[in-house]
Amino acid sequence: KQQLNGKVALVTGGSRGIGAGIARRLAREGATVAVTYQSSADAAATVVKEIEAEGGTAYAVRADSADRDAVRGVVDEVARRSGRLDILVNNAGVVGFGPIGELTDEVYDQTVGVNLHAVFHASQAALRHLGEGGRIITIGSVNADRMPFAGGSLYALTKAGVAGFTRGLAREVGPRGITVNTVQPGPVDTDMNPADGPMSGALLPALAVGRYGTADEVAAAVAYLAGPEAAYVTGATLDIDGGFLA
Ligand code: NDP
Repeated sequence: KQQLNGKVALVTGGSRGIGAGIARRLAREGATVAVTYQSSADAAATVVKEIEAEGGTAYAVRADSADRDAVRGVVDEVARRSGRLDILVNNAGVVGFGPIGELTDEVYDQTVGVNLHAVFHASQAALRHLGEGGRIITIGSVNADRMPFAGGSLYALTKAGVAGFTRGLAREVGPRGITVNTVQPGPVDTDMNPADGPMSGALLPALAVGRYGTADEVAAAVAYLAGPEAAYVTGATLDIDGGFLA
């Protein structure tokens, strides 16, 4: 049974990695899916084609998450184009790692802009469209709660920020039948954090299951939170992390 039939979902940063996995999964559940991207137009078009090949409905819109007006604009554009908006998945993210003394203003502004400010602005804009049963799901990180090596202060700042934002907003919109949750992945094999990349040596020993996760494993949690069975889950943080925080 397709639990999201008739729903419209917006996934930011849906051209690659975890966001692409989420887009494909929500489409498989029956939702019409809009994905945003910043530079990967071809990859975004491929995700749309893959969804359409499976019989789903999707489209891609370029919208820079670091640009407040673009974030607000794409939320309104999707609601207008698809006639409604039911699910916002704040997924777009950048790493911004480095020793604090070496983090430039540009890296600071980009990381906070994409990972934190865009989550606020997209959620604020989405709440003008979401009705009963609406969902806001933000992809945080286990690094909000545990940062096992140096150089992650800025990234942790943004990911802890969205977890706090989620709890605060859940209180506010609960009476409207809208839930707000954070999914915190552990290491997931993507361009950002390849399973054979430079961070894997430090991360693998921290995992109870001894392997990286997949985008599809994160997408499964998002599909659950997006669906009707999760109506009583709000303000929550779901760790999909292979035991990283255990
Ligand atoms: P990737 O780098 O593989 O993909 C990032 C996605 O975000 C791309 O679709 C990219 O679009 C988009 N994006 C980046 N910057 C912008 C921007 N300014 N405007 C619009 N879109 C943008 O990352 P992941 O899939 O690994 O990460 C997805 C989320 O999961 C992030 O929030 C990340 O912090 C989080 N996460 C990832 C973990 C991991 O181990 N991989 C662990 C914990 C959390 P484009 O293709 O156009 O660049």
